[in-house]
Amino acid sequence: MTQGAARTISIFGATGSVGTSTLDLIRLEREKYHVVALTANSDAEGLAKLAREFDAEVAVIADASRYETLKGLLAGTRTDVAAGPEKLVDAARLGADWTMAAIVGCAGLPPTLAALQSGKTVALANKEALVSAGDLMMAQAREANATLLPVDSEHNAIFQCLQGGRIDQVRKITLTASGGPFRTWSKEQMASVTPAQAVAHPNWDMGAKISVDSATMMNKGLELIEAHHLFPVGLDNIDILVHPQSVIHSMVEYHDCSTLAQLGSPDMRIPIASALAWPERMKTDCVPLDLARIGTLDFEAPDVDRFPAIKLARSAIEAGGAVPAILNAANEIAVAAFLSGRVQFLEITKIVSRMIDGYSPPEPNDLADIFAIDKETRMRATAMIEDVKV
Ligand code: NDP
Repeated sequence: MTQGAARTISIFGATGSVGTSTLDLIRLEREKYHVVALTANSDAEGLAKLAREFDAEVAVIADASRYETLKGLLAGTRTDVAAGPEKLVDAARLGADWTMAAIVGCAGLPPTLAALQSGKTVALANKEALVSAGDLMMAQAREANATLLPVDSEHNAIFQCLQGGRIDQVRKITLTASGGPFRTWSKEQMASVTPAQAVAHPNWDMGAKISVDSATMMNKGLELIEAHHLFPVGLDNIDILVHPQSVIHSMVEYHDCSTLAQLGSPDMRIPIASALAWPERMKTDCVPLDLARIGTLDFEAPDVDRFPAIKLARSAIEAGGAVPAILNAANEIAVAAFLSGRVQFLEITKIVSRMIDGYSPPEPNDLADIFAIDKETRMRATAMIEDVKV
């Protein structure tokens, strides 16, 4: 799908943190883009506002109960309105030149796969899709000859550092981690953490789910799995390094012991801009890095005793099969339960661990298998949270 000289573009999860940051960048070069599809889960008002501003061809709301509201809000515009998860997939099949996959959670998997099938460029923020179905997604990207551009700041950094060499020349990849808001807290202190404390990330302004993942450091675990799929250097060659200032977004060490790092202010618009303009560069109004003001960069090893999610994720990759999908689904349910006050902060990782230990389905072969595992894990984790004190 092309539209004159403009590049066609779709944003899945347009109303979220990554989605709105992407649209902020498009505002800077509005004439270069023609917006095909914008989507949301339930925020009909936010979606309608964006669809009007960007004159989107299609606006899709996943929650079908919000259809009439969205339809009413977009009356008199040329935007087609659709609702329901299957319509997200239809919108992805429209095959925009560039698609931002920024739905949160495994719900983003079907439209992301459909976008990859179109063989165009997919900018991937939706890490949960890759964690649950990494082999399937990477195979789909290869088969369709699609371009998969990592948007997560760490993976985008690695992608940029890899422009300086080849993957077979890499000795080690280092994923940096801020350590989250509780980096220096004891387990006793973390026992009584509130949702408001957990979503208040020291460096990054992000959606609620990823903010809690950063606080438990499950985010780094998910990113380890993500890196394992995106950059095949072997799991033993991917390290995690805590770097509280979030200035170095990750590093690649080559066989000759040269280490390339990508640096920048902690602003998601920077990696998004890199993916949006790739292989070119665009001008942004982001704050340039001021290392003289920052002065010092600190580093420390992650504490896997206080943050066991990192260990869980590493063993999930080693186990393979259904385990990463179970880890992801259990974590999504546990984080939602924490945000709604039904479980304590430290219970999140325990729930994930118990779900992995107590459920051993056969290895998934296709999307249907992944969804069956995802659904069953969600049911089991929900039942565990409702019935048993973890
Ligand atoms: P947000 O919670 O801010 O936004 C999520 C978006 O997905 C919203 O548009 C939301 O719609 C939509 N959505 C939520 N649930 C569903 C569903 N079931 N079906 C369809 N759409 C849905 O998340 P973020 O922008 O923070 O994160 C998006 C993804 O990007 C995540 O996978 C995250 O891990 C990843 N990421 C985010 C970063 C960040 O800085 N925020 C950094 C790196 C990666 P609605 O508004 O209607 O709820």
